[in-house]
Formats: sequence, structure tokens, C-alpha cells
Amino acid sequence: MSYDIAIIGAGVSGALIARQLSKYDLKIALIEKENDVAMGSTKANTAIVHAGYDARIGTLKAKLNVKGSKMMSQVCEELNVPYNNLGSLVIAFNEEEDKKIEELYQRGITNGVEGLKIVGKNVLKEMEPCITDEATTALWAPTAAIVCPYELTIAATETAVTNGVEFFRNAKVNSIHKSDDKFTLRTRIGDIDTK
Ligand SMILES: Cc1cc2nc3c(=O)[nH]c(=O)nc-3n(C[C@H](O)[C@H](O)[C@H](O)COP(=O)(O)OP(=O)(O)OC[C@H]3O[C@@H](n4cnc5c(N)ncnc54)[C@H](O)[C@@H]3O)c2cc1C
Repeated sequence: MSYDIAIIGAGVSGALIARQLSKYDLKIALIEKENDVAMGSTKANTAIVHAGYDARIGTLKAKLNVKGSKMMSQVCEELNVPYNNLGSLVIAFNEEEDKKIEELYQRGITNGVEGLKIVGKNVLKEMEPCITDEATTALWAPTAAIVCPYELTIAATETAVTNGVEFFRNAKVNSIHKSDDKFTLRTRIGDIDTK
């Protein structure tokens, strides 16, 4: 079996890479060791599309977090996956945590997160009437959202496969060998050559 591109792992990353590359005229293999997609971290996360105030300033993560958060609603629409832009609140309960909220706000602004606001006790109570009276301030991030990580992964893989990507399950890659013109992946289901 020979491919232009081999993607190892059908978590949310591999599935969305496969979907993106399936737009091109390439022979692509998506190779997963488990018997389905989304069997790794993807199946067990918190489903938050983070706004981008957490990531350390200047890192690739910060850049891609903010960029990805802006792209996600369009990606979900194209894949017909529910995307809920409900925003997020980080709550402080004392003066020390108020300072942390200010720090997150500044970091978010530097990272390019849009619409961030620090809200005081009264506004917070209006936004979330059931919140504890002990809350002091909060960071409001209107661009945060939630999306089901495995629905997203299933939809991305289905689209990739519809576009011609070959998906191999139960196919753990045990080793990778490099020769002059290709890589050979030794997998549970046989060798896969790729450029
Ligand atoms: C508790 C928790 C909460 C989180 N909450 C969030 C959140 O709210 N929002 C957010 O954006 N992120 C969150 N994350 C992080 C997020 O889950 C990961 O960044 C994301 O799932 C990584 O996806 P992935 O496709 O790179 O990896 P994975 O989902 O781990 O996929 C890797 C795939 O590769 C396969 N594989 C591994 N080795 C081989 C091999 N040798 N051969 C073939 N296949 C192989 C695995 O079986 C797996 O399917 C959270 C993580 C955790 C643990």
C-alpha cells in the first residue's frame, strides 16, 4: 500500500487534518490503532472551544488557539456539527483571584481575544442569577463555545473518507523506517509506504 500522505491517529487532530488535505488531489491514509475514531484524549475532554486567554503569550499555542477559535463555527457549520457559542466565565472569589482575572484579561487582550471583559459582582449576578454571593469578579469571554469532540471527529473523518481518504482501524503503527524516497510504516495490518 502506497500513499502520498499517512496520518497516524484518528483523534480530533488527525481527523481534521485528513478532512483538510482531502480537498487536494492526494492519496491519503488515516491510520488508527483502536477500532474507531476519537478513542484517545478526544473522547474524554471538556468540549470547550477555548477563547485563547489561557495560552502563554507569544507561543504557537496562543496564536493557533485564537485563530482556531475564530474558525470553529464555520468548520462546524460545514460539517453539520452543533456549535454552541455560549461564552465563558472565569470566576474569582477573593482579592488574590481578582488579580488573576486581571492577568488573564491582559493575556487575552495581548493574544488577540475579542470581546473580553472583567465584570463586577452586580453584572455577574445579572448574567448568572444563581451564582454564589461569594463571587467577586469574573472574566467574560464571549467567543468561547462548546462542541462535541467526538461528533466533530466523526464528521471530519466521514467527510475525509467521502473525499477519498482511506481509513484504517485496528492498525497500530509499530515503527517508521525512512529510506531515500519514502517512509515505511510497519503496522498491525501490514506495511504502508508514504512520501
Ligand atoms: C481531561 C481533559 C480535558 C480537556 N478539555 C479540553 C477542552 O475543553 N477543550 C480543548 O480544546 N481541549 C481539551 N483537552 C485537550 C484535548 O482533548 C486534546 O488536545 C485533543 O483531544 C488532542 O487530540 P489529538 O487528536 O491530538 O490526540 P488524541 O485524541 O489522543 O488522538 C490520538 C490518536 O492516535 C491514536 N494512536 C496513538 N498511537 C498510535 C499508533 N502507534 N498507531 C496508530 N494510532 C495511534 C490513538 O488511539 C488516538 O486515537 C482536554 C484534555 C483532557 C485530558
